[in-house]
Amino acid sequence: MKLVKLIANLGYGSRKDVAWMFREGRITDADGEVLYADDKVDHARIRIDGEPLDPPPGLVLMLHKPLGVTCSRKDPGRVVYDLLPPRYRVREPALSTVGRLDRDTSGLLLLTDDGALLHRIISPKADVAKVYEATLAEDLRGDEGALFASGTLMLESETTPLLPARLEALGPRQARLTLHEGRYHQVRRMFAATGNQVQTLHRVAVGALALDALAPGEWCALGADGVARIF
Ligand code: URA
Repeated sequence: MKLVKLIANLGYGSRKDVAWMFREGRITDADGEVLYADDKVDHARIRIDGEPLDPPPGLVLMLHKPLGVTCSRKDPGRVVYDLLPPRYRVREPALSTVGRLDRDTSGLLLLTDDGALLHRIISPKADVAKVYEATLAEDLRGDEGALFASGTLMLESETTPLLPARLEALGPRQARLTLHEGRYHQVRRMFAATGNQVQTLHRVAVGALALDALAPGEWCALGADGVARIF
């Protein structure tokens, strides 16, 4: 791909803007040599105003989604894209969230511009576990574990029962729940089906990938080993 298109696609500006950046000598290699639009250079060696170029397409981000932001692109309130550098919002191919978390759910959210990877993660065939921790309005009854594991629980307005899910009680009103699918408001609706109400909900892991030390609002780019931990 031509350098102008590559750099414009990463959100640095229109192709016209980037052509100007070349003319102004702002685009160099790692040794400070001015680059020209037709040069062939390794992505990792390109600098803009002395700074390394943003990562190429194939980006996978792990974000600690805070409470109060939505996964939508267009929302009058705060959206997850507001937590990323502004260029990441306009790069092509676009970054999409891998599934969604509710506005009132915090925790591990993946974003990627790799459509094939996105579909692989959410595909039922991949069977990627999603692990949530919930605090509840009422004490656990004691039979929720068996009900959720049964594979017979039918949520309101659904036509197929939920896949078996694993519940671990962490306290009288605290539970860890491992799901193998992602239906709309699934955790909240599962506890509602037992007469309870979720008060806080946090996703701690997707597959074997955990949030670890990321604070709310922080994100990192995943390397191949991070991505491998999802599956
Ligand atoms: N289940 C929910 O109810 N909400 C989420 O955000 C994720 C899973």
